Amino acid sequence: VVLLFKDDATAFNRQKFGTIDGKGPMNLRISVRILAEMERAGIPTHVVRVLSERELLVRKVQIVQLEVVVRNIVAGTFAKRYGIDEGRVLERPLVELFWKDDAHGDPLVNDDAAQLLGLATADEVVAIKALALRVNEVLRGFFGERGIDLVDFKVEFGRASDGRLLLADEISPDSCRLWDRGTKQKLDKDRFRRDLGGVEEAYQEVLRRVEEPIA
Ligand code: UDP
Repeated sequence: VVLLFKDDATAFNRQKFGTIDGKGPMNLRISVRILAEMERAGIPTHVVRVLSERELLVRKVQIVQLEVVVRNIVAGTFAKRYGIDEGRVLERPLVELFWKDDAHGDPLVNDDAAQLLGLATADEVVAIKALALRVNEVLRGFFGERGIDLVDFKVEFGRASDGRLLLADEISPDSCRLWDRGTKQKLDKDRFRRDLGGVEEAYQEVLRRVEEPIA
């Protein structure tokens, strides 16, 4: 399958729509760098190879119909749902599962519901949550070395033909909340969601830091 990285940006279940200039190629480069880091850490991914600045060849998988969110710091829907201020550091990472179902606004599901809805087997739910926490550890370390706090992120997993679970998603400022450690400035899609301005610049800054060699 060829993934095409577009400049289109959507938010709030597609109610908000726009474009972020140059986002596609930036997100492709950010994702490829980060997914290589995952492979190095022993987390299998769908990546095969880069075909062009907007096209990434990936293995064809059957996508598990779950959006797997890991949170380190309170933000977004978690802050809203429980009435907690954004920015509180959680005592330990939290994994949340959302059913990929736009018609119902991607509802939160617990492990039992995920199984009973036929989204994943009991073993898969356990494996997916463990993988998501490992992704979080690698990602947190990677961004931490680059002066960025990983607030939360979303990933999806897919079943390869042999049934093995692969990390099958982009990992970019579209799918992660990233705060500059020093200034706490948002370097992610919240700049678009909340009309904060400087959207392209934030993505460029993440790309720069992601590709910068670390001493
Ligand atoms: N997220 C995503 N796609 C979605 C929903 C969420 O990539 O369809 C990411 C989002 O960017 C954030 C994390 O998952 O890093 C947690 O999002 P949250 O549940 O707070 O919802 P949001 O505020 O993004 O609607």
